[in-house]
Amino acid sequence: MNLKIAFSDFDGTLTLDNRELTKTFFDVIEHLKIHGQELVIVSGRSISWGHFLLTHFSNLKGVIMEGGGVILTRNKRNDIDEHLLIDQGEVQTLANVTEELQRVFPKCPLSADSFGRKTDRAIEFEFMQDEEIAQVLQFFKTKKVNYSKSNVHINFWCGDVSKYNGVMAYLEKIRPDVDKSEALFFGDAPNDQSMFQSFENSVGVSNIRHCLSRLEHKPRIILEGVENEGPNGVLNYLKKMNALN
Ligand SMILES: [Mg+2]
Repeated sequence: MNLKIAFSDFDGTLTLDNRELTKTFFDVIEHLKIHGQELVIVSGRSISWGHFLLTHFSNLKGVIMEGGGVILTRNKRNDIDEHLLIDQGEVQTLANVTEELQRVFPKCPLSADSFGRKTDRAIEFEFMQDEEIAQVLQFFKTKKVNYSKSNVHINFWCGDVSKYNGVMAYLEKIRPDVDKSEALFFGDAPNDQSMFQSFENSVGVSNIRHCLSRLEHKPRIILEGVENEGPNGVLNYLKKMNALN
């Protein structure tokens, strides 16, 4: 394929074991730069994270954050523009539901970066009991609030937000010169499923095996072996693909 953009999830896909930002992450950026290809990170993390990524990695021109709720780009003055992909009414409904959630479940820990979020909020579920998690998810169902569980968070939002919608908005608004068929997506978890379902070129790094049986929609290509976990899998796949062209 004639690759122009590599879209990629962040946690567990560009970081190793959901934590380590290794040298391979920088190798991925460098490899794409050499080949004139763009990396666009598509993550459930907050807008503030997007600011961090765009500020400190000058090869990144745009990122999609909050699970597809917002696109951040750097403009000609080198400032960062925010493009919210949901309307103001949905932003307000989400604020109200979050307030109620904290009243009903005072022990439910919102993620430390929730204060900086605009189009979604996140819960740190690591230390929550299964029963407690089930009650919170039931609360979201009653309120008709959407949610998704990633490796680190339960994210929730109002409106039609998905990584797929974020990526399609990016192609439409920011890079209309790029066709869907000239782009790839890398992911590793259930919150990447909208991309696995609807995006033609999707690749799962090998650590996806931990949740493969729980996925309703799987990536078209699934990498195997410990050597293809996280960013190593991304880099190996890109190198192989670019060598073929
Ligand atoms: Mg992930």
